[in-house]
Amino acid sequence: MAEIESFTLDHTAVLAPYVRRIAVEHGPGGGTITNFDVRLVQPNAGEIPTAGLHTLEHMLAGLLRDRIDGVIDISPFGCRTGFHLLMWGEPETADVVAALSGSLRFVAEEATEADIPGVSARECGNYRDHSLHSAREWSRSVLELGVSRDAFARVGV
Ligand SMILES: [Zn+2]
Repeated sequence: MAEIESFTLDHTAVLAPYVRRIAVEHGPGGGTITNFDVRLVQPNAGEIPTAGLHTLEHMLAGLLRDRIDGVIDISPFGCRTGFHLLMWGEPETADVVAALSGSLRFVAEEATEADIPGVSARECGNYRDHSLHSAREWSRSVLELGVSRDAFARVGV
C-alpha cells in the first residue's frame, strides 16, 4: 500500500491545538496545493462529538473562506480530533492559524443558529446531527489553549 504521511506522524508526540503543513503537491498540469493538519484536540486524549464537529465543518467552510484566500476544502478527520485543510498555493501556516482562530472566535462568541449554513434536509446528508452548543464549547476550549504554528511546540499562541 502507498505510504500515507499522516500515519507516519507520531500522534503521541504532538501538542494540540496546532496547524501543521503536511505536504505541498504540484499537479502534473500545473498548480500547487498545500495540505494542512488542523488539529483541534490532543490525539487519544479526547474527540469532538459528531454533532459539534459536523456544525464546525459547516461553519468553517464559510468562515475560513471569508478570512483567507485559496481554501479548497476543510473536512473532518474520522478520529474527530481535527480537520484536513486543502488550499491552493503555499499559504503561510501563521496565516492559516490567524484565519482559523478568527473563525473559531466567531463560533465561540457571536454565532447563532442562523449562522450555520446548509442545515436543511436538502442541503446536508444528516441535517439533524448538528450542535451549535458543542461547536461553541469546543471552539472556546481550543482558543483558551491557543492554536500553535508548530505541532510539537507551543509557537505563536
Ligand atoms: Zn452536513
